Amino acid sequence: MPKKIIVVGAGIGGLTAAALLAKRGYCVKIYDQAIVPGGCASTFKRKGFIFDVGATQVAGLEEGGIHRQIFTELGIPIPDYIPCDPACAVFLPGETKAINIWRDPQKWSIERQQQFPGSEPFWQLLNKLFQISLRFQERNPVLPPRNLWDLTQLVLALRAETMLTVPFSLFTVLDLLRFLGLEKDYRLKTFLDIQLKLFSQTGTEETASLYAATALSLSQSPRGLYHLHGSMQVLSDALLQGIEKYQGEIHMQHRVEQIEADRVSVRNLKTKQLHQEEADYIIANTTVQDLVKLSPELSSSYSKRLENLERPSGAFVIYLGVKNLAIPPDCPPHLQFLYDYQGPIGENNSLFVSVSSPGDGRAPDGQATIIASSFTDVDKWWQSENYDQLKQEYTQCALEHLGKYFNLSAQTIVHQESATPRTFFRYTGRDMGIVGGIGQRLSTFGPLAIANRTAIAGLYLVGDSTHPGEGTAGVSYSALTVVRQIESDC
Ligand SMILES: Cc1cc2nc3c(=O)[nH]c(=O)nc-3n(C[C@H](O)[C@H](O)[C@H](O)COP(=O)(O)OP(=O)(O)OC[C@H]3O[C@@H](n4cnc5c(N)ncnc54)[C@H](O)[C@@H]3O)c2cc1C
Repeated sequence: MPKKIIVVGAGIGGLTAAALLAKRGYCVKIYDQAIVPGGCASTFKRKGFIFDVGATQVAGLEEGGIHRQIFTELGIPIPDYIPCDPACAVFLPGETKAINIWRDPQKWSIERQQQFPGSEPFWQLLNKLFQISLRFQERNPVLPPRNLWDLTQLVLALRAETMLTVPFSLFTVLDLLRFLGLEKDYRLKTFLDIQLKLFSQTGTEETASLYAATALSLSQSPRGLYHLHGSMQVLSDALLQGIEKYQGEIHMQHRVEQIEADRVSVRNLKTKQLHQEEADYIIANTTVQDLVKLSPELSSSYSKRLENLERPSGAFVIYLGVKNLAIPPDCPPHLQFLYDYQGPIGENNSLFVSVSSPGDGRAPDGQATIIASSFTDVDKWWQSENYDQLKQEYTQCALEHLGKYFNLSAQTIVHQESATPRTFFRYTGRDMGIVGGIGQRLSTFGPLAIANRTAIAGLYLVGDSTHPGEGTAGVSYSALTVVRQIESDC
């Protein structure tokens, strides 16, 4: 009899784990509380527009990339995509000329030398660390290891060159800048701060330099960031195709209310009925905060960890359906704006913006989507006595900021709506609506990250709370690790 596996959650992490396990002969069932799969990488439709809920760009579709590797194993065609070039156009406060993060490494090298004279030693060092880290990641290490098999995988992935990176595991990005005498280059530091915030929830002061090496080097060829044709949903659709192809089952609108060592309690949200179901292995595609709520037995093993974690961020997102008139000519697909050098990044002073391209399937002819997000403190959205007013204020502020670049008016805006941490909580079930995973600080990176194995044998955690689960590519690596761990445990 094939072993039975229940996956709690159909985010990209859960779907990937489920599809790979079904392909490898396990009997797999997914339960998800939402109406559509994909979690933070899903979409919604309004007036002919398709909006990506959270994730808008994807890494790992190139030759050897993690998404491609998984589709190849599943025998599923790779969805259509186009590379983003520039991957991002970054505007610092008061500047009208963008810092363009070009896909071509040579072009990006020239751009950064012009933008940040004297900083080349930093980029060269980062690139060396990235190349070594990438080769290490491609050998599928298990981090952090929790048993002998995990440790063996980690040791097998090590090479002499990996050891060269070990001293850097103690450095933040700011340490690297200090080491190279670049810490006083305020413009460079600010650029790095806002880029890193996108990937690691924190800036140069705290981001682990080894993580930054990957995050800041991913955009260049032969790797890159990509826009999927149609919408982000095609990623989930392709994984679902894999699940169906290998006879896995998925049940949407089913919330798992409790996880025990060998069973889950599941509520059908349409009939309100609760049932218990046994499994040989259970995979939680949830945040670690939600896992502890679902499985109180785990609270002692995570309590210190969770107490010491920095409060994860939430997101405020505005979704606009606009006429093409609103989009300036040659608008890049991704832009990042910082509006003020003062104060923390996020909370009304920065926006990450994704713009659809003609014919990419996200908007009717002659129209486009603009999706802009900023980080926000989740607590304020739950504590506020006047939630609607707060949402209105954030919406107004975002529109004013966006109006400096886009031509926004009642004539050009066809559709407008916003999402707050409360919205993310409602649609993705994530604790308080936190998004984007665990910040990649020295204290939460690599060997100190949250593991895929939990203290309960047979219960695994997959997704952006675990190493290296950041973004859809990261959660796919985390899913692959869990799949290999389950195979080794059988
Ligand atoms: C605004 C924003 C922008 C982003 N931009 C990018 C980007 O451009 N590129 C990128 O790669 N990444 C981006 N990310 C991050 C990326 O979307 C996430 O890291 C990734 O999609 C998380 O996947 P996951 O599998 O960990 O979980 P999730 O997406 O959180 O999925 C979890 C699933 O589990 C379900 N679930 C939860 N609890 C239960 C329960 N008790 N019972 C049943 N089901 C449950 C939920 O409904 C959900 O479907 C962005 C995120 C946000 C919020």
